[in-house]
Amino acid sequence: MNLTMKFCPNCGEKLTKENIDGRRRLRCSNNNSCNYIFWNNPTPVVAMVVETKDGIVLAHNKRTPAGIFSIITGFLEMGESPEDAAKRETLEELGLQSTSATLIGLFPFSRAGQIIMSYHVLANGEIVLNEELDDYKIVQREELLGYENNLRFEVQEWLNKLSVLK
Ligand SMILES: [Zn+2]
Repeated sequence: MNLTMKFCPNCGEKLTKENIDGRRRLRCSNNNSCNYIFWNNPTPVVAMVVETKDGIVLAHNKRTPAGIFSIITGFLEMGESPEDAAKRETLEELGLQSTSATLIGLFPFSRAGQIIMSYHVLANGEIVLNEELDDYKIVQREELLGYENNLRFEVQEWLNKLSVLK
């Protein structure tokens, strides 16, 4: 959904553009019984820097160009804590059991309409990729410096925090 949406998802009437709370937003033209406003709020997403005893696991998604390896991401289930989502996604996507999930930081990712909650996850087990992924590689922390991937800013933040702790 975005600002090109034409009809109210609630009642099917036309949507009109209005200034509400300082921004241009879509509002349902049926003012009597609906009052729907499309707030266009970002969707929360968890992103995981998964580390095993061998190193950090980067995966290749089937939908991304060849050679692009990234940290894994996922959506939260209703009622689930972000930490639990980070652990569940690590299990679902990589087949790894998490022993901890520590918050790295929060990152607005407006191009995708998301707010990224990123976690450093310590995990173990044997890697089994789910159907979204078709390849992975293990890298060491120092190899991640300047690494080109989809969610580089979170990795960079995490590396910065590690160097602060040293
Ligand atoms: Zn409506």
